[in-house]
Amino acid sequence: MDATEACPFLGGSLRRSPVSPDGSYAEHSVNKIQTPLPWVAAAGSGASQVTSTVRAGIECDDSTGCVVPPLHLSSTFAFRGFADKREYDYTRSGNPTRDLLAAALAELEQGAGAVITASGMAAITLVGYLVPAGARIVAPHDCYGGTYRLFAAWHRRGEREVEFVDFGDEAALRAALARPAALLWIETPSNPLLRITDIAAVAALGHACGALVVVDNTFLSPAWQQPLTLGADLVVHSTTKYLNGHSDVVGGAVVARETHLHEELIWWANCLGLTGAPFDSFLTLRGLRTLHARLEHHGRNAHALANWLDAQANVNRVWYPGLRAHPGHEIARRQQRAFGAIVTFELAGGHDAVRAFAAGLECFSLAESLGGVESLIAHPATMTHAAMEPAARARAGLSDGLLRLSIGIEAFEDLRADLARALARAASVLPEPRLRQAAAAC
Ligand code: PLP
Repeated sequence: MDATEACPFLGGSLRRSPVSPDGSYAEHSVNKIQTPLPWVAAAGSGASQVTSTVRAGIECDDSTGCVVPPLHLSSTFAFRGFADKREYDYTRSGNPTRDLLAAALAELEQGAGAVITASGMAAITLVGYLVPAGARIVAPHDCYGGTYRLFAAWHRRGEREVEFVDFGDEAALRAALARPAALLWIETPSNPLLRITDIAAVAALGHACGALVVVDNTFLSPAWQQPLTLGADLVVHSTTKYLNGHSDVVGGAVVARETHLHEELIWWANCLGLTGAPFDSFLTLRGLRTLHARLEHHGRNAHALANWLDAQANVNRVWYPGLRAHPGHEIARRQQRAFGAIVTFELAGGHDAVRAFAAGLECFSLAESLGGVESLIAHPATMTHAAMEPAARARAGLSDGLLRLSIGIEAFEDLRADLARALARAASVLPEPRLRQAAAAC
């Protein structure tokens, strides 16, 4: 892409990124996303989302007939001749492997186009460039810790005016959206308490105050939730999580409902150098093909473990939208296709109990991140949300006893047995005899 190209926000005109009509990947280019996608055609019109996902990028190269798409690692592409550019010229601006992933995600989210970024945080940063300096952003007070850190830093430096609001407090949210805003940030289910926001209702409030509405859909993926169909303008993903699904890539994506937003995202991603690496896109596209199969197992294990944890003596509370007692249960039933595979719970006994619980786990790795096939456990106060000041953590309800489980696809019985042993260890350090006895009976 030509570095002198002007950005629309700077008063110039936006030129589309180069597409050669006879380029071998022209039909897969993000610039042509409006035309029928090759795998949809191959699978037959009206193919289900499952089929589209499995066939993403399959048999897309006529020159070799390879079934799996090739990986284009080249950082640069030769001109045909003087002033005769091909479809691609430089991988920061455009890359055929990355474009295949972008087209697949746009299709899954039912958007006009997607931009693939180097991380989920790069995707969030990219969205921030769609609004002018000093613009007002309304965001949930319990959003992902990295999002919170970035927004708070923008606010401190005067780059954006960010207001963190408790989205569970309708009056507070309505008051925040009574003033004009440029961006409304939604994360649902939220991390780690899995609070559910009614996307359609809150997006309508956001649009009424002039905001672009963005949903971080990392926790569910488009297989389980499609925010663009509920009124959002943009969807953000950390593809590091369920979309790749194997904990071997850090990546991100932004999907736009409308072409003009997609074009602005392409421009800024190239300008800022936020685009993802081709190899990461290749791996993510491979992971994506098993998304629905993986999620079925994730969801089944998570729901069963949430029910089981809910009945344990030294568990104070379980947060899982599939539980009837969860405050967002009814909205989740309406706007999601499943309840997700993250289960958060509060262990009785605080730090000491958490330490005993985490020591000796066999099927859960104590690690940040989520959405891989293997089960993980995180302690938000000292890990994912350590970047939040203690007062902000307390306001968001993140106590020291809180643990977040990313439920994998291992055998349910093994996961339950591992958690049972961990609960018994945690109970053994509790002062209350009642809980120690209950744990001994497990
Ligand atoms: N959004 C959510 C909901 C997340 O949980 C994360 C990371 O955990 C991110 C965004 C950031 O993604 P990444 O780690 O790929 O930069």
